[in-house]
Amino acid sequence: MLVYIGLGGNLGDPVAQIREGLGGLKQLSRSRVVRRSSLYRSAPIGPQNQPDFVNAVACLDTELAPQDLLAALQAVETRQGRVRRALRWGPRTLDLDILLYGDLRMAEPLLTIPHPRMAERAFVLLPLREIATGIVVPGAGKVDDLIDRLPPQAVHRLPGE
Ligand code: AMP
Repeated sequence: MLVYIGLGGNLGDPVAQIREGLGGLKQLSRSRVVRRSSLYRSAPIGPQNQPDFVNAVACLDTELAPQDLLAALQAVETRQGRVRRALRWGPRTLDLDILLYGDLRMAEPLLTIPHPRMAERAFVLLPLREIATGIVVPGAGKVDDLIDRLPPQAVHRLPGE
């Protein structure tokens, strides 16, 4: 199954965190990293008094079921020192989200696929388009159309990354 994972972080050295996160994805069982985007820098959404985020998207070919993949991603987050806090959209060292899992659509209390907010987020859609031109987000539409509809958001590709 081809799946797309969103990576983000804004604490410590976020570029290093994302690189390490990509390293963590490479070590997932029954999975292989097929592609990964450049790194992007984005202004925080929600509370503004926190550092900019660095984001990327990776494509994995995996045999893990969605729940098992989520558990494996959370183990990578925990290994990299993310402390789960009550503050939604607060700072974090590494955040890993399942964006797309093939064409699957599911909504369960702990796991919604496609990721429910991805269609509004330039920091997800721009790196996704970079590695998956023309991809369709089930239930939402083509990535290019979603990008055309976005309100302006400060997201910049980091040169050389
Ligand atoms: P956050 O703190 O924003 O990373 O949210 C993490 C929580 O979102 C986890 O406890 C997951 O159970 C839940 N969640 C729901 N859908 C997804 C998804 N597609 N990818 C990752 N986490 C998800």
